[in-house]
Amino acid sequence: MTFQELGLEPMLLKAVTEMGFENPTPIQEQTIPQLKDKSTDMVALAQTGTGKTAAFGLPLLMKLDLNSRFTQSLILAPTRELCVQISKDLINYSKFLNGLRVTAVYGGAPIMAQIRDIKAGSQVIVATPGRLIDLIERKAIDLSHVDVVVLDEADEMLNMGFKDDLDQILSNTPPTKNTWLFSATMPREVERIASKYMESPLEISVGKKNQGAENIQHIYYTVNQRDRYAALKRIADFYPDIFGIVFCRTKAETQDVADQLIKDGYNADALHGDLSQAQRDLVMKRFRSHTLQMLVATDVAARGIDVNNVTHVINYNLPEEAENYTHRSGRTGRAGKTGIAIAIVTPREVNKIRDIERIIQNTFTKADVPDGVAVCEKQLFHLVHKLHNVEVKDDEIETYLPKIYDELKDLSKEELIKRFISEEFNRFYAYYQNSQDLNIGNDGNNGKTTRFFMNMGELDGFNRNSIKDFLVEISGINARVIFNVDVKNSFSFFETENKHVDEFLALNKKGIEFNARVISFEVSKAKPSGGYGEKRSYGGGSREDGRRSYGGGGGGERRSYGGNREGGGERKSYGGGERKTYGGGESRSYSGGGERRSSYGGNKEGGERKPFNREGGNGGGERRSFDKPSGERSFSGNREGAERRKRFTK
Ligand code: AMP
Repeated sequence: MTFQELGLEPMLLKAVTEMGFENPTPIQEQTIPQLKDKSTDMVALAQTGTGKTAAFGLPLLMKLDLNSRFTQSLILAPTRELCVQISKDLINYSKFLNGLRVTAVYGGAPIMAQIRDIKAGSQVIVATPGRLIDLIERKAIDLSHVDVVVLDEADEMLNMGFKDDLDQILSNTPPTKNTWLFSATMPREVERIASKYMESPLEISVGKKNQGAENIQHIYYTVNQRDRYAALKRIADFYPDIFGIVFCRTKAETQDVADQLIKDGYNADALHGDLSQAQRDLVMKRFRSHTLQMLVATDVAARGIDVNNVTHVINYNLPEEAENYTHRSGRTGRAGKTGIAIAIVTPREVNKIRDIERIIQNTFTKADVPDGVAVCEKQLFHLVHKLHNVEVKDDEIETYLPKIYDELKDLSKEELIKRFISEEFNRFYAYYQNSQDLNIGNDGNNGKTTRFFMNMGELDGFNRNSIKDFLVEISGINARVIFNVDVKNSFSFFETENKHVDEFLALNKKGIEFNARVISFEVSKAKPSGGYGEKRSYGGGSREDGRRSYGGGGGGERRSYGGNREGGGERKSYGGGERKTYGGGESRSYSGGGERRSSYGGNKEGGERKPFNREGGNGGGERRSFDKPSGERSFSGNREGAERRKRFTK
């Protein structure tokens, strides 16, 4: 079917052809012939990206009397962005029509200028409901000649609390008008509007009811809460050409995630309601022009975003309302393109995935967060590809070439390639070589890590950070693979990757002492932490009693081993060359009282460096703050330092 066969007016046909529309989309095939001739109401179930703007815009333009200056069509949309987009589209379709005036009216912009535009005579007004009510109340708009009202993204408008406004607007327009309603989902409120204000509407549906677009692949990763951000980073690293939207639940979370990404050298920015309109416009402008790779947004701020070629929609947190998932994922897979919608969930949230599956009538695939090897490989080939396609500025480098050739003359082509690649590759290889597997099962267990019990705790002066320092010191194992540290009174737990189990067990044989007690490690039978169904059997005294010999200290007497320098002074080793003693004398102090030479997590200057930062030192990779008991990552750090770096030069 062609646009011509649908009966599109020649001047409109010429314009859409110029815009690159070759054939009508399914929804356009259904609406154009019906709406252009008939006087009918219509309810259309359609996602954004299906071509719905042209589906109502083209027949609407064919119905207008361009010789009249009365407002004949009213289009309501939930957001300023969408209003602007719709007016732009209408202006583009009508490029070869004379006399059309379209005015967009929305909140957050001076109302007087909008009133002047309306007074000048616009056949089409595109409005957000709130601003239109304002104009109606000021008697600045005459709706008595309106014969078509379009409700675009009706479900969104109702979600945003425009119910009363819509009622008021619909009752302020002539009863003879036709109403065309578009909605991605059909909740009861939308059905109520349809039955209250429409007469035997034409019902159109593209795709099944409430179904997400078919060209979107829905996947989810199950990770611990503390690894949410690390998982996001892996996604960004695994898809170097990502052009995506990261959805968060709150404004604060949105800002924090964006800040963290920026700090880690990614090309990201935030979009949420606490930003001024000018700031939001700037962010959107950068995103639209692909200057920005990752837009971190709240649901509300991202409503109506109409940007093509979004490759990924990432649910950093699932939406409060499962229904909103459709709107989020609908931002990708537009205009026939494919898209990937990723949800990062904790085991506790897997049931929400099931709820969403019911709504979108589609299934999610549980996938694995890419591991370090996969990321390195992806980055490597991305680099090769970039190298292959890089623009060479012959004139600019010509003068330097003789010197360069001379310096590199000993190297074969193979050697040269290896060196150029290694220059970049080494950096991310170094970062990812010891990277942790972030995946866990939906039951919260990953089968890839082991939980250890150790006979030292708070009473020995340890806290979460100092015990980790201590473990690194005695085992030589990287701090990154010691996690979920949980310090109790007289003992502690921590987790490590299975491959390090033997190394810890081997330490038992060394008889390492801490203030005269031999440290022991045991594989714990308790489930890994993470909060799901964890039943600790250690709360009581049995283990404590069995293992500790405090020599009658008891009661409320707290000992601070690490901080206490007396007594331990010159003691270096007891019984056998292999033994080491900690906690005494001039040795390092691991307790809160002593001077900490190295600090992890809490220390903002520290942190592991993001590997791909060309600028080096201050990238601040997977920084963690361990001061929250749940081990949640803290994003609150160091906003001022958030140096905006473009990570990938295009
Ligand atoms: P919409 O669902 O109206 O937001 O449209 C999604 C995108 O598809 C917009 O960028 C349109 O310009 C584009 N589009 C709409 N109709 C067609 C068509 N018939 N052929 C190609 N692209 C289209």
